[in-house]
Amino acid sequence: MLLTNAELVDGRTVDCRIDGEQIAAVEPELDPAPDESVIDAAGNLLLPGAIDAHVHFREPGYAHKETWTTGTRSAAAGGVTTVIDMPNTSPPTTTGESFDTKAAAAEQACIDYGINGGVTGDWEPDSLFDRPLCALGEVFLADSTGDMGVAPDDFADAVDRAVDEGVTVTVHAEDETLFHTAARDADAGGPGRAANADLWSTYRTAEAEAAAVDYATDVGQETGADLHIAHTSTPEGIDAAVDGGATCEVCPHHLYLSRADLDELGTHGRMNPPLRSEDRRQAVFERVADGTVDIVATDHAPHTREEKDAGLWEAPSGVPGVETMLPLLLESARQGEFTYERVVDLVAHNPAEIFDLESKGRIAPGYDADLVLVDPDDPRAIRGDDTHSKCGWTPFAGRQGVFPELTMVRGQVVYERTPADGRDRSDDDEQFGDVDGENVRA
Ligand SMILES: [Zn+2]
Repeated sequence: MLLTNAELVDGRTVDCRIDGEQIAAVEPELDPAPDESVIDAAGNLLLPGAIDAHVHFREPGYAHKETWTTGTRSAAAGGVTTVIDMPNTSPPTTTGESFDTKAAAAEQACIDYGINGGVTGDWEPDSLFDRPLCALGEVFLADSTGDMGVAPDDFADAVDRAVDEGVTVTVHAEDETLFHTAARDADAGGPGRAANADLWSTYRTAEAEAAAVDYATDVGQETGADLHIAHTSTPEGIDAAVDGGATCEVCPHHLYLSRADLDELGTHGRMNPPLRSEDRRQAVFERVADGTVDIVATDHAPHTREEKDAGLWEAPSGVPGVETMLPLLLESARQGEFTYERVVDLVAHNPAEIFDLESKGRIAPGYDADLVLVDPDDPRAIRGDDTHSKCGWTPFAGRQGVFPELTMVRGQVVYERTPADGRDRSDDDEQFGDVDGENVRA
């Protein structure tokens, strides 16, 4: 297959030849072979497929929230071609056996994926490390969805083990002892719906994040571990990660939403760590734009609308995001808030490097043909009904996003916004190609 006249983020206009699953050539001009199919990409930007290093696809255990089919389709429609799935499913991915259960569910995937191993007080590292896991984590330093919070000693032991095994450790950094429990306890709570959603942000303090990052990076530096701090939500947390020699990620919700949005979002804006003040959001945005932050990943954590409509203290934490990450970042690039090169660093080059995805993240000969075509000047409004996640809602409704025209995984078209032969766009099955996603470590 030949993609012609595609623009790259560095400004070059190229033809890109795909041979089987890989990129074979990227040149200013390539002549099509007689039997080669050609896609004219003129006017479109060609990007490496995005890598979302932090998703919760919910299977096994919570298929009513998301499945590997709906989650990976949602990813493909948002230009994500590789995901890394977190272990707080049911059963949790903390043993070899539970890893196998998740691996079986993941066979539905239409994009590539990594499966992480989890840590609890009773995890089974021997059988777990026997499996092709992508990284360890997220290791929860505070309880979140799944009640997988670990004690400090267990954390240090797990980090030691990860160093022996040569895998990266992803950390959910919040220190529960610094939560503002008095604010929670003072809330009448009542039936809940009326509770002020902003209290969640008061309760899970910014200080709790920075302190936990300090603690985790101390352990990391003592052991020489490759530590990655998940979903940093504050400038203090980001700076602590950088000072502590860890890599860090920021989620789109901490980049684009703040406590100021909670009046409208209510409990649909509840996640861990929570939304922060508008000042902190802007400081986080600056650190993403200037290269301090390594990656953007989504913490895609879908729950049904009904579940999220519970009271503030009963509603589950988490928001969907895998389909809107790249579109939101591309809209920021279109607005000049940061460069297209920066977008590609954040969602392709850097995650590939941090998680050792050697064949991913670049448009160059020998790399997997994981590719996305977008029309950079054609944003559209984000709507929950248009997303392909099983949960069917988004906290970013009404914002603009630049969505893919076409997404390809290892040379196969997995998503087409407007199928070339004019088929009915409203029928999901017609938009998605039949691609077998693969475990990136298998
Ligand atoms: Zn987390």
